[in-house]
Amino acid sequence: MKNTGLEKILGRIEDLDSVNLGILVQRLARERKMQETVFNTIQDGVIVIDSDGVVQYANDAALGLIGLKGNDIGVTRLWKMVPDLAKSIDLDTVTGKKKSAPVLSREIELNYPDHRVVRLYMVPIDAQVGHDDSGGHVIVLSDITEERVSMEERLESERIDSIVRLAAGVAHELGNPLNSLTIHLQLIERKLKKLAELPYAAKLAEPLQVCQGEVERLDGIITHFLKAIRPQKLELNELDLLGLVEEVLRVQEAELSNRKLEVKVEVSDDLPTILGDRDQIKQAFFNLIKNAMEAMQPAGSLRILARRDDDYVYLQFVDTGSGISEEDLSKVFQAYYTTKEEGHGLGMMIVERIMREHGGHINIESRKEAGTAITLQFPQQHRRTRLLE
Ligand code: ADP
Ligand code: MG
Repeated sequence: MKNTGLEKILGRIEDLDSVNLGILVQRLARERKMQETVFNTIQDGVIVIDSDGVVQYANDAALGLIGLKGNDIGVTRLWKMVPDLAKSIDLDTVTGKKKSAPVLSREIELNYPDHRVVRLYMVPIDAQVGHDDSGGHVIVLSDITEERVSMEERLESERIDSIVRLAAGVAHELGNPLNSLTIHLQLIERKLKKLAELPYAAKLAEPLQVCQGEVERLDGIITHFLKAIRPQKLELNELDLLGLVEEVLRVQEAELSNRKLEVKVEVSDDLPTILGDRDQIKQAFFNLIKNAMEAMQPAGSLRILARRDDDYVYLQFVDTGSGISEEDLSKVFQAYYTTKEEGHGLGMMIVERIMREHGGHINIESRKEAGTAITLQFPQQHRRTRLLE
């Protein structure tokens, strides 16, 4: 056992008179208090466990992170509170003893009391002087949840960007062969007309028309796709969101009534105008309404609810359609995710991009077989400028 400063003093303790002893105890108490303050000011969690895995010390941050209470200290084994933590530091969960010794640094996820991503750093207490690890360990936990989330978000938007650019390139390239097809189909059409008296000419007219129709459709898809997907500069104007909803509904009127679907717009507050790009926001509404239509059976209904609070304007699209299962909910914003035979899987991704570019958010709640509610949240103008400042 090492002879620490404290042990030296303790060894001489019988030599001290009561006054000096009092001073010594007071000093120790002050130092302890100061250390405690320092440790509780640190944002990282600091835990000390003994060789049995029992928590001997934990600062405030650590208590919060792993859901320990003050009276667990000195009693509770770490692995009992946080089995995940035990796994990642190789505690033997039967004996509570650590199986492997080295200094350890690892990212772990804690699920209780909150979901956090944490970097764990563990050092045997005696490691620096080369002792074996018969003693305890110091564990430092740094909360890196925010860091991770923002990195994931960045990666995701970079990934979307590159997919979008690739797809736009391909779509653009398809333009030339399509043009050539159109021209040659016209040539065939003309030659066919000159051969009208031949018996097989009439038989060719119909397949030719089908080809022309399909080429036209393909051209439409590509043009639409390119328009939707190209990164466009926002052209900001003051917009009346409800007016735009009405405009989009007029465009979709025929399809809505074909499908025997009802649409109701319900406005609970006086809505302020927002700053936004007219075409893009209409595109977002169009995509959402189209998805709602495609999810519903005849007699279904789409409600569009509008409200505001101090900072945002909210538009909620509530349908009585097929709903989305919990596991699929996270996929709807992914490029090319679709459950439809003729779907492109780009609509929701585009809506999300448009909302992001407008400083807004999109939220989905859904229940299988019950319906889906999608909320768009637009920042009000004062909020936007505050953000920019
Ligand atoms: P697409 O409509 O081409 O499939 P989207 O990106 O618009 O692509 O939507 C992706 C998928 O999300 C859809 O295929 C569908 O499964 C699901 N989805 C989106 N909106 C709804 C909705 N309102 N109700 C049910 N499912 C939806
Ligand atoms: Mg869609």
